[in-house]
Amino acid sequence: MKYFGAHVSAAGGVDNAPANAHAIGATAFALFTKNQRQWMAKPLTAAEIDAFRKACDTYGYTPGQILPHDSYLINLGHPEQEPLEKSREAFLDEMKRCELLGLDRLNFHPGSHLQKITEEESLDRIAESINIALDSTHGVTAVIENTAGQGSNLGFRFEHLRYLIDRVEDKSRVGVCIDTCHAFAAGYDLRTDEACDATFAELERVVGFNYLKGMHLNDAMKILGSRVDRHTPLGEGMIGMACFRYIARDKRFDGIPLILETPDEARWGEEIARLKAFAEEA
Ligand SMILES: [Zn+2]
Ligand SMILES: [Zn+2]
Repeated sequence: MKYFGAHVSAAGGVDNAPANAHAIGATAFALFTKNQRQWMAKPLTAAEIDAFRKACDTYGYTPGQILPHDSYLINLGHPEQEPLEKSREAFLDEMKRCELLGLDRLNFHPGSHLQKITEEESLDRIAESINIALDSTHGVTAVIENTAGQGSNLGFRFEHLRYLIDRVEDKSRVGVCIDTCHAFAAGYDLRTDEACDATFAELERVVGFNYLKGMHLNDAMKILGSRVDRHTPLGEGMIGMACFRYIARDKRFDGIPLILETPDEARWGEEIARLKAFAEEA
């Protein structure tokens, strides 16, 4: 079974997200469980938690179809102690919010070395940050997203994801999310079936599909290896529709949230319908 959806709005409360996803025909969704541009959020109330869980039941979304995303402010690989601690605290809070909402995974960007420490030193901090968060939570998997490698962001090589997994103590609660735009920007070709075969064989070899807990389906505005993170609607960027047809038809992507973060929200319904049609061809 394929679960297709988009990163929908949770404006007015997290319990609005399931209805927003249902309205576009989604069988999966992503959301922020707090304002993603602020460090601190009010704790979730019992009423908010209850309303969210009820809305998920109403519209038929189970935890395996939901991929919450953490705040963009968090840098778990920060070179300086104080901001690193602030990030770790905020990340732990996000993990706990997921736990309270009954969600089983949290998608996050690994972090940045900010040109002040080496890649390896920053990756070691990220791994330690993940271990700290897992130590104080239950049932929520830390899902590391690959990045475009813009600026000093780490996670643009599958080897970075592997490096982190190797250093996480509880392997049952670590996973990855692959963003097609980010992979392409980082130099992994996805333009043809043959290119997809090679890139996903590389993912299997370096990371392993058993760690894949979600995907972000985005076309890319810039050329292969640009290291620039700019999304376009499916089929309108440099990747092209073949990649999304390939993923929709491939069993390795069954049973996980496949999430659009394409720029034109008005077209999400149409994009989801197209993906569902591809899946049905298989
Ligand atoms: Zn992301
Ligand atoms: Zn992106």
